[in-house]
Amino acid sequence: MAYAPVTAIVESVEKISPNFMRVVFSGPEMKIVGSTSPVFDQRIKLIFPNPGKDLPTFPTTGDWYPNWLAMPEDSRGVMRTYSIRSLNMGPTFTSLTVDFVLHTEPGLTGPAATWAMHAQEGDKLLILAPRLDAEAQGGIEFDHGAAQCIVLAGDETAAPAIARILEDLAASDNSHITGTALIEVPEKDDILPIAGPAGISIKWLPRQGRAHGERLLESLDLQAKLTASTPADGDTLLWETPAYSALGEPVAAASTAHGEYYWIAGESGVVTTIRRALIKEKGLDRSQVAFMGYWKRGIAMRG
Ligand SMILES: Cc1cc2nc3c(=O)[nH]c(=O)nc-3n(C[C@H](O)[C@H](O)[C@H](O)COP(=O)(O)OP(=O)(O)OC[C@H]3O[C@@H](n4cnc5c(N)ncnc54)[C@H](O)[C@@H]3O)c2cc1C
Repeated sequence: MAYAPVTAIVESVEKISPNFMRVVFSGPEMKIVGSTSPVFDQRIKLIFPNPGKDLPTFPTTGDWYPNWLAMPEDSRGVMRTYSIRSLNMGPTFTSLTVDFVLHTEPGLTGPAATWAMHAQEGDKLLILAPRLDAEAQGGIEFDHGAAQCIVLAGDETAAPAIARILEDLAASDNSHITGTALIEVPEKDDILPIAGPAGISIKWLPRQGRAHGERLLESLDLQAKLTASTPADGDTLLWETPAYSALGEPVAAASTAHGEYYWIAGESGVVTTIRRALIKEKGLDRSQVAFMGYWKRGIAMRG
């Protein structure tokens, strides 16, 4: 199994900006978590206990997911998807950092953001993250293939993944790669340090009250009008990458990208608009682009 739930204990909590809470997890069970290759946009799952309840306990060996799903809803907690902002592996410990977006307005919040808002040292949750002993790791979408120029674009939920991709590129043989990273955040005080490659310009796009996605479209030089997600769309997130198509389009086994590679993530409706516009207005081939809905306005995720 590449992934299996382990108990993670909160080591520290820091409000690093008005809309981001940085939580560092460690603990004895975390020692099996790790990766010997770059983390990039590696996704992980977190299982939060329901308020006032203990962490769910269920058989975690083999195919654990049906065991977790079979539990009563009020005791199994909720599962959500996050990115690894950083992963530190020492000889006797592993610590993993997650940057949580604090979308805590009444009616627009959810269990994960609420948990992060109140997290304290010593709190526990379950983490499904890559294991050091796994034969194959899944959950990484960033794959620029032979492309030497990249465009990363996303909203605040994608900021941790973009930061990790940039820092991993800077520390790798690909530090010569060029391009642009566009990161839309709620306000200017959400701009955070990223140690990316010298050839990639990082442009933070504080919304300062403007519509979600507008500054991304503008900065990508796209003319399209934003189409908002509606609850009628259900909770399926847009997920179209060179290697996977939720729409059932033909895909390639490995990235064949060359020239320019685009990686776009954020609110699903915004990413859908950008996808249509990039394909229509710029004529991009699907082998050059990964489009990922990270959340959907008005819809609670299921994990
Ligand atoms: C691969 C992947 C990686 C991700 N990485 C990160 C990460 O590193 N950090 C991070 O913060 N998020 C990340 N996300 C997004 C995160 O999973 C969602 O925002 C999730 O909905 C949060 O769960 P929740 O319980 O707080 O809200 P939910 O219960 O899922 O939703 C409740 C309500 O909150 C709204 N909502 C959800 N997210 C937001 C938001 N960001 N802003 C405004 N309203 C929102 C929903 O539309 C809904 O109305 C990632 C998602 C994916 C798929």
